[in-house]
This record gives sequence, C-alpha cells and structure tokens, in this order.
Amino acid sequence: MTKKKEPVTIDATDALCAEIDPELWFPSMENGRVQSSYVAANYAKSVCARCPLITQCLLTAIHNKEEYGIWGGATPNERKNIRTANQAKKFIITLQDKADDLGSLNVKRKR
Ligand code: SF4
Repeated sequence: MTKKKEPVTIDATDALCAEIDPELWFPSMENGRVQSSYVAANYAKSVCARCPLITQCLLTAIHNKEEYGIWGGATPNERKNIRTANQAKKFIITLQDKADDLGSLNVKRKR
C-alpha cells in the first residue's frame, strides 16, 4: 500500500515575507516562468535571499510540489530543476550572492 505524502508546513514566525504584500510572491506566470511584475518578482527573491527560513521554505515547497509562487527564492521552473538538497544549497548560495542586484530591500518588521 502506498502511503500518501502529507504536506509539510513551516513555522512562519520569522518569515521576512510575513509583513509584505503577498502578491509580490505570486507574479503572473506562464508555464512556470515570470511573465510580468519582473521587478516585483526580483524584489521577492531579494527578500527570500535574506530570510532565515530560506532553506526550509525552499525544501518544503519542493516537497509539497508547490505549483505557484516564489518560495525560498525560487520560481516554479527553478524549483523543478532542484532535485537534491545539495542543488537547493547551491541555488540558495547563488541567489544570496546576487541578492543586492535583484532589488533594494527595505523590509520593515513590526517587532
Ligand atoms: S524564503 Fe521567502 S517565501 Fe519563504 S518564508 Fe522566507 S521570505 Fe517568505
């Protein structure tokens, strides 16, 4: 008997995106590629690059086969190309290296 995979959730208490317009993480997509709101998508990625939950978020999105949105700094197409934890780690390092070029970050948190 095959056991159904249960979705995994993360504790979003420390998520940098928690207090920013969530629309930025869901830009218009076609076939997994960003079609519009390119600046917004890059801004979202720049926030993810600085988020303490990035690794957990990315791996959870891959595990849950999230079809939409930017999770852990990755678009749906980017997530399809990440198949191992090592590939996820390399993706995150690359994203963090270019975070300053993706957009300026001015995240104001309530706490
Ligand atoms: S990695 Fe990005 S999408 Fe995930 S919790 Fe952090 S800011 Fe939000």
